[in-house]
Formats: sequence, structure tokens, C-alpha cells
Amino acid sequence: MYSGEIKGVGPRYCPSIEDKFVRFADKPRHLLFLEPEGRSTNEYYVNGLSTSLPFDVQMEMVHSIPGLEKAVLLRPAYAVEYDFAQPLQLYPSLESKRVENLFFAGQINGTSGYEEAASQGLVAGVNAANKARGVAPLIVGRHEGYMGVLIDDLVTKGTTEPYRMFTSRAEHRLMFNHASAELRLLDHARTHNLLSINRIKKIEAKKKAIERWVEWLDKNPVSGRMTWGDTIRREATARGTTVQAGGGLPMPDDLRKEPVAVQNEVLYRVSYAGYLQREQRQIEKMSGIEKIRIPGGFDFLSIRGLRRESALKLAEFKPYTLGQASRISGVNPADISVLMVMIEAGRGAGAPDVPPK
Ligand SMILES: Cc1cc2nc3c(=O)[nH]c(=O)nc-3n(C[C@H](O)[C@H](O)[C@H](O)COP(=O)(O)OP(=O)(O)OC[C@H]3O[C@@H](n4cnc5c(N)ncnc54)[C@H](O)[C@@H]3O)c2cc1C
Repeated sequence: MYSGEIKGVGPRYCPSIEDKFVRFADKPRHLLFLEPEGRSTNEYYVNGLSTSLPFDVQMEMVHSIPGLEKAVLLRPAYAVEYDFAQPLQLYPSLESKRVENLFFAGQINGTSGYEEAASQGLVAGVNAANKARGVAPLIVGRHEGYMGVLIDDLVTKGTTEPYRMFTSRAEHRLMFNHASAELRLLDHARTHNLLSINRIKKIEAKKKAIERWVEWLDKNPVSGRMTWGDTIRREATARGTTVQAGGGLPMPDDLRKEPVAVQNEVLYRVSYAGYLQREQRQIEKMSGIEKIRIPGGFDFLSIRGLRRESALKLAEFKPYTLGQASRISGVNPADISVLMVMIEAGRGAGAPDVPPK
């Protein structure tokens, strides 16, 4: 593969040893991990040594590593070549725009990774069921979780190489501390019937306790005019301590009696209140256009005042909401304003709404 004899682009985030030799030529050493394959086998996976070199070269390479002189190679390493179905062909529900009732999830959409595949599988599964039941699809917003960012990126921008869900791709990542996932996605879980009533009730109780404490801490003084909230923020900044229960931040005794998960989320929200509020304002500013649905079959090419380039791109991508339309490269804010007026005036609507029917 490296010599060009085999065509194909290797995965960027998992370079082969021959690739590393060239890209990181200045490094004096390289770490390998011997990962046991199971309890009842003496087979090991050599993590960090992926390669597509010929088998005899692989054997020589492994035997040159101190400790592995006598290792037996059960299977040669091999290169993985990726192919995928361009995700621009999908609605945010992960249903194909071309073949109705066909849903795509996972690496067939151009992603790489366990979480990437699992989250799409969840959304596609829920939406296949929703489509069959004739109810609205589950669409996680970009401001609600990484799942939302991942799917929106895929179906709006497409991808040219294996897509990984880096936290830096999410503009509102400050809101995505992992402990708050069940709180952020509670409404979706309820609407789409994804959790037992028991679990929903527990999350609701946790949410209430957190919100009550956050409000209480910012209203009640520790001493003088300083509220608990002010004191926690000041201490968090001054000490640079972990914003977590047990991190040494001041807390009223009754808060310490709450479950640790509640304490942690309360401390997070209070300590970073200023940043979180700023983020929330930004989300609210954007939420207007995220909620405006573009009717299915909307005839972009018939809209006067829309630039030709935009109209063509919009007709090709068939965005689901105005928010999604605004992220298509080449579509500018002026085009969005024109579209907004037209949608409100009921123009351009052609075929029936998709999805679901
Ligand atoms: C060596 C290796 C190491 C990796 N390490 C990591 C890692 O450390 N962390 C990470 O996040 N990701 C890792 N990945 C990537 C990750 O494993 C994949 O991106 C992810 O598993 C893809 O999930 P998927 O469900 O889309 O596809 P798959 O897991 O490939 O599932 C597709 C399934 O469809 C089945 N199938 C295929 N054709 C048919 C058919 N005609 N009929 C019925 N069934 C069919 C297959 O048997 C398979 O079970 C690694 C990948 C490889 C190859």
C-alpha cells in the first residue's frame, strides 16, 4: 500500500507502522501494547503495529522486538480499505432520500468508531420504528449532544475520509459534560418511549433536585452579601480545583447528603454559570432557524431572489430545516432570509412532507 502498488487511502487516525516511520521520523522510539485476545487463549493483538507489509517482512519485524524473538504469527496484519455510501443522501432521521424506508447507520455512512456507530444505530433504529408507526422522527439537535453534531455534520456536509466525533467539532461542547447526558436527552427519551417509566422518574427527580440546588445556592448567602454560588465560583477559580464532589469546594451540609451525581452536576453548573449562560443565549439565538421545517419537495429552483449557486446546492442537499440549510457551504445568510420569508408565505412547497409520511 505504501509503495502505491495497492491503491487506497489509509485511515488517518490509525496509521500503519510504515506510515509512522515516515511521518514521525524524528521520534527515537515507539510504544507497542500486547493485548491479550481472551482468557482461554495465549493469542495477543499487537496494538501499534498495524501494517500492510508482506508477511515475511512482518515476521522479521516482530522477531526483531526484544521479548518477541520466538513469537508465532497466527495471522498476518492487513490493510483496511474504506468504502461508504455518501451520507449526504440521508435525511437527519438517517433514512435514505433515495430509497424510502431504508435507514443507514455506522461505518457505511463514512464514520469510524464504536460510539459513532452505536449512536447512529440507536437513532436509525428508533426512526425506522417511528416511520413504521407514522410518528415524527427522533432528531437530536447540535446543541443537545454529540450524536446531534455527528449526524448533522454527516448529512449536511458529507465526508471525504473516515469521520470521527472529536469534541472540537461541537460548537456547544461546554454543555456536553457527560454526566448530564440523561438530563439533556430526557425529553427525547420520553417522547420516543426509549426508557422505562421507572428510569424516567428517577431522571426527573435528579433534574429537579439539581435545578432546585442551583437556584438555592445563588439566592442564599454564606455570610454578608456573598451567596453560596459566589463562594463556590471564587473558590473554584482560586484553587483551580476539580469541580466535583470531594474536590474541596465549599457546600452546604444538606447538599453533601444528595447523591454524588447531583452534587457534581450542581457544582459544574454553579462554577461555570457565566460561561454556560453565554452558551445558552447563543443556542437560543440560533434555535429560531433550527425549528423552521422546510416542507418536503420544496422547489428551491423556483424561488426568485435566491442565488443560483445556493438554489442548486439546496435542491441537491434537500435540507430538513433552515438551520441545516444555513450550514451548507455556499449558502449565505441572505439566502436564508429569502428562504425564511418564502417558507412563511407558504411558497415553494411541492410534494408531501418527508419524513415521515
Ligand atoms: C482492527 C480494528 C480496530 C479498531 N479499533 C477501534 C477502537 O479502538 N475504537 C473505536 O472506536 N473504533 C475502532 N475500530 C472501528 C470500529 O470497530 C468500527 O468503526 C465500528 O465497529 C463499525 O460498526 P458498524 O456497526 O458500522 O459496522 P460493523 O461492526 O462492521 O457491523 C457490520 C455487521 O454487518 C454484518 N454483515 C455484513 N454483510 C452482511 C450481510 N450481507 N448480511 C448480514 N450481515 C452482514 C457484519 O458481519 C457485521 O457484523 C476498529 C476497527 C478495526 C477494523
